[in-house]
Amino acid sequence: MELLKVENVTMQFGGLKAINALTMCVRKGEIHGLLGPNGSGKTTCFNVISGVYQPTQGEVLLEGNRINGNQRHEISGLGIARTFQHISLFGEMSVLDNIMVGQHCRTKEEFIGAIFRTKEERAEEARIVARAYELLDFVGLAHRAGEKACNLPYGEQRLLEIARGLASTPKLLMLDEASAGMNSVEKDNLIRIIRAISAQGITILMIEHDMKLAMGLSDEITVLDHGAKIAEGLPHVIQTNPAVIEAYLGKGGAPHAQSK
Ligand code: ADP
Ligand code: MG
Repeated sequence: MELLKVENVTMQFGGLKAINALTMCVRKGEIHGLLGPNGSGKTTCFNVISGVYQPTQGEVLLEGNRINGNQRHEISGLGIARTFQHISLFGEMSVLDNIMVGQHCRTKEEFIGAIFRTKEERAEEARIVARAYELLDFVGLAHRAGEKACNLPYGEQRLLEIARGLASTPKLLMLDEASAGMNSVEKDNLIRIIRAISAQGITILMIEHDMKLAMGLSDEITVLDHGAKIAEGLPHVIQTNPAVIEAYLGKGGAPHAQSK
């Protein structure tokens, strides 16, 4: 069953079509890899899906309902969470607070600003804190709860972004190069975490530069080049697809090679 459908989407910046008439589907429950050389439109695709950009043409559907045209927070509320290629945390806030703002789009100010709290509000606050710790524990960062987010090593900041994404209880989690900058031990840990998220029934759409990781985790893969889809299907079929090999070779690397 289809969870997400990108239908004939074009995203134009001036004279450049960063995405060109792209149609792709993400099925409920799968781990779907979105691949392609640098500049092929992968992040733009995430930006259109998550409402950062309104597409020039086409539609984005979640469970059959059109979501493009909604604001980012509305799309988040509808069940789509994402991480960013360039990490986007509140660096001066604590690790725990970064998770709490991910829940129901609350702000820290809203959270601590309520002076006259009802019993229900205090219970809600306790629930939010408990859930934040649970999520931190899930990604192995509970011991970092009180630290400033900016003081975490790069790999842990990426995990914190994932935990923050999960805080909004998404149906679809989109990861933009989650393994970038991670060493092999951190990557193995990330693989375990992505599998565990998937096992909870959350659908995953991931942009990934590490081909070994993408091929090993994905149920299905879509490959972009110059904003258009050049291949889709099972990982082992994609890997030997001549158009895919050419797209990567043309940019200086075969798809089976690790580019980072
Ligand atoms: P990828 O994530 O596959 O590396 P991007 O989606 O980031 O690729 O970029 C695709 C193309 O769109 C690139 O040529 C990039 O420079 C361009 N692009 C992305 N965002 C913008 C923007 N806001 N304004 C102008 N051009 C953009
Ligand atoms: Mg990108």
